[in-house]
Amino acid sequence: MLRRRLQRIERQSASRHRSRWTKAADWSLLLSMPIALLLSLFLDANISRTSSENLADLRLGRNDRGTPLKATILRKDPNRTPWTFGSPLATVQLRQRTIEHGWPFSSWNTLPPLQLITVPLVDPSVTIDLTQPSAGARLATLRSETGVDLTNALDVLLLTLEADRQQAWVENLTRQETRTSRAWSATLATAVATWFLLFLISVLLIRTSQALHFLAAGWRRQRVIGKLKAGRCPFCNYDLSGVRYPKKCSECGRKIWG
Ligand SMILES: [Zn+2]
Repeated sequence: MLRRRLQRIERQSASRHRSRWTKAADWSLLLSMPIALLLSLFLDANISRTSSENLADLRLGRNDRGTPLKATILRKDPNRTPWTFGSPLATVQLRQRTIEHGWPFSSWNTLPPLQLITVPLVDPSVTIDLTQPSAGARLATLRSETGVDLTNALDVLLLTLEADRQQAWVENLTRQETRTSRAWSATLATAVATWFLLFLISVLLIRTSQALHFLAAGWRRQRVIGKLKAGRCPFCNYDLSGVRYPKKCSECGRKIWG
């Protein structure tokens, strides 16, 4: 019984008529693969989004006017923690930015060096990233405009982090290294998703044009029948009403019946 069944399947598949539309769908499946791969590489290179994570909150201040600058690391919610300095000066956020490349899956990540975003209490609209080369000049401006001196804030913060045994952060801040990680599986996933999408779109287009083609053929057929009924050549419109079943058109010579 199984053999008979297999034979029948074989016979059916051999005799199955494969139209050019089905062939076009097969080709689109094949051709959309390299296009999808190129597209996913293009998305990798051109689409990115940045997110930022706050790793720690710190504060800068002095015990008294004229005493050295000091920093503390906050353990709890900064809004609920009272200031321990007699002279509070600035809040600092230790931030890690992450740049994800690729779409919809991120296939490689870039981790730029950590940031120390400093906001002086005297003017909360000012933000200075202490790790930037321009920080020195900006601190000098702050000092001349407001009298707040945060000149060696970076060193004080690094020492505070070191005292807290945050070696990884200190090393990252001093070396200013950018780390990247590559995930080829995400590129592959993007390529497969794009492949599927491209194939779906092309099959839709193929089926739509097939339907239009079918409609147009039907319309042409109707027109030919109409002309023949009216006793005219369907090609050149020559009047053939004198002959009952003309084999050829006597004007253009094209075959009509038989
Ligand atoms: Zn004719």
